Amino acid sequence: MSRFFSEKYSRLTPYTPGEQPKERKYIKLNTNESPFPPSRRAQKAAKAAAKRLALYPDPTMKALREAFARELGIAPECCLAVNGSDEILNFAFAAFCDEDTPAVYADITYGFYGVFADLYRLPRRVIPLCEDLSIDPTAYYNAGGTVFIANPNAPTGIALSLAEIEGIVKNNPDNLVVVDEAYVDFGAESAVTLIGKYDNLLVTQTFSKSRSMAGARLGFGIACPDLIRDLDAIKYSTNPYNVNSMTAAVGIGTLSDPFYTEHNCKEIMKTRAYVLDELRAMGFSATASVTNFVFATHPRISGEDYYNALRARGILVRHFTGARICEYNRITIGSRAEMEAFLSATKAILEEKQ
Ligand code: PMP
Repeated sequence: MSRFFSEKYSRLTPYTPGEQPKERKYIKLNTNESPFPPSRRAQKAAKAAAKRLALYPDPTMKALREAFARELGIAPECCLAVNGSDEILNFAFAAFCDEDTPAVYADITYGFYGVFADLYRLPRRVIPLCEDLSIDPTAYYNAGGTVFIANPNAPTGIALSLAEIEGIVKNNPDNLVVVDEAYVDFGAESAVTLIGKYDNLLVTQTFSKSRSMAGARLGFGIACPDLIRDLDAIKYSTNPYNVNSMTAAVGIGTLSDPFYTEHNCKEIMKTRAYVLDELRAMGFSATASVTNFVFATHPRISGEDYYNALRARGILVRHFTGARICEYNRITIGSRAEMEAFLSATKAILEEKQ
């Protein structure tokens, strides 16, 4: 730390992104990226946009917002394009929490919520997951602060139903509820259908997972126009050109190819069912994931040993050290061939353990 670093950040522990190692070729099942390339239309749009990079992008992202709004069946005033959904979460912590409005979130959830709460030095209320790692929706009723819920949750992969999410929104008439739907396209129900009904709901979505665009950085906030205007105020006070013109073009290209996205999501869900069956047959317990990853533990090998043994075989997964989840690993669903390699490695590791 230099002597110029503000004292207010002295206790900050930054978010640790999943590894992106370059020293050898791994089967990467650690950051929930898509195994499929961006759609051909998206790739073509990127090439065309590269020629126009001398100009600033449209700060209102009109064309992109219109394309996204059309897909979701909402008005364009109800969405805001951002540089990955991490950015809309950042804006939401900045806009909707303060010393009198704590951030409310689960003890086991997306690690960035705690980092944003630290960054803005916010009070917080951390609500433990149930014994089976699910969320009890009633624990969030009248939460006394701004609620952040990943649905499906990460790293557990478990989702609440739309009725349960609506219960939380309805029972927080004076609090904002932020529903982080990074993984919603792999089998959960979206709360976007509720935004016309509630003025205290913000839904966040990303193009990083189901739309194969993690490297382009594109996300959205979806809410009533008043909330979008608040978030826009934060955007224009930090970085009006937060989404670059190539990413915007790729986003529009991707949205023009919905069947490609749908097909890829179905493939991931099929592969997930296959992986879960195989893991359970080998003695693993796994949560009922509706995401593009599984969360699994085995009684005969520690979470850390399993992670290291996979890594030694050229397969990267994500291991967390938190007390309640340190025996688990989060394994991204890759291509069928990658998952077959992962399952054979797992079989070999368990045989060696006997
Ligand atoms: N929410 C959750 C629950 C996530 O797991 C992630 C991915 N790390 C994000 C948000 C952010 O994704 P991105 O910034 O790539 O849109």
